[in-house]
Amino acid sequence: MESPSIVVLTGAGISAESGIKTFRAGDGLWENHPIDKVATPEGFRKDPSLVHQFYNERRAQILDPAITPNAAHKALAQLESDYPGPVWVVTQNIDNLHERAGSKNLIHMHGEILKIRCKKTEQVFACHESISTESNCSCCQRSGTLRPHIVWFGEMPFQMDEIYHHLGKAHLFISIGTSGNVYPAAGFVEHARECGARCIEVNPNPTYNPNFEDFRQGVATVEVPKLVNELINNVPKRNTPEIP
Ligand code: NAD
Repeated sequence: MESPSIVVLTGAGISAESGIKTFRAGDGLWENHPIDKVATPEGFRKDPSLVHQFYNERRAQILDPAITPNAAHKALAQLESDYPGPVWVVTQNIDNLHERAGSKNLIHMHGEILKIRCKKTEQVFACHESISTESNCSCCQRSGTLRPHIVWFGEMPFQMDEIYHHLGKAHLFISIGTSGNVYPAAGFVEHARECGARCIEVNPNPTYNPNFEDFRQGVATVEVPKLVNELINNVPKRNTPEIP
């Protein structure tokens, strides 16, 4: 029998209690900036300095030693190590809190704040410093070719084939701290459900998506460790000899 697999989709809400603000909060703003100015290719073309500055601030924030993985990130890493089947975390977050908590099967579908990309060669580099339109790219040796390694509105998220492959095989789909406003991630629950997964949502505010058959209302640091504990203690037993 195939081991039962789990796909977890996380959004900005899982990092809220680590001190990173969520996205929309109902007002279309990300850290007080309209999203079309800082999270679209058009916004970058129009004002690259503003966009670099915005992501420089996000990068500096995640490098601040005060920002650390919380109990929810840690519980998901524990789920991956203690659950007998494969556990995949697909995150919309650009922060690095899942990997710092210990998650290994991790897909950053919207990119990573600690990476930068050359527009000419598509090479991706680790980046822990501030970038400007004057910064020189180490592959093409030009200035003005670097952009944040972030998926903006209107761009295709990363690793979509792999994500749909895991969703298609998942026994359980868990959505944590995401408003369900940003597609294609918002459509994962429907796909997982159609492919046979049980679907659970964790959020202080319900999204009322009917594909979730189980809703855990509350903050991630409380609800995720509880759920992980349940899952680890209720795994279908494997290799049990059949009683004649
Ligand atoms: P969103 O901001 O649209 O929604 C956040 C959701 O989290 C809401 O449903 C809210 O009810 C819930 N929430 C708030 N506090 C919570 C808590 N303590 N525990 C659990 N849930 C909580 O976020 P989204 O759906 O992820 O879409 C936002 C987009 O913004 C993503 O694509 C992401 O790339 C980007 N973003 C990322 C970060 C980050 O990397 N940490 C932060 C802000 C925005």
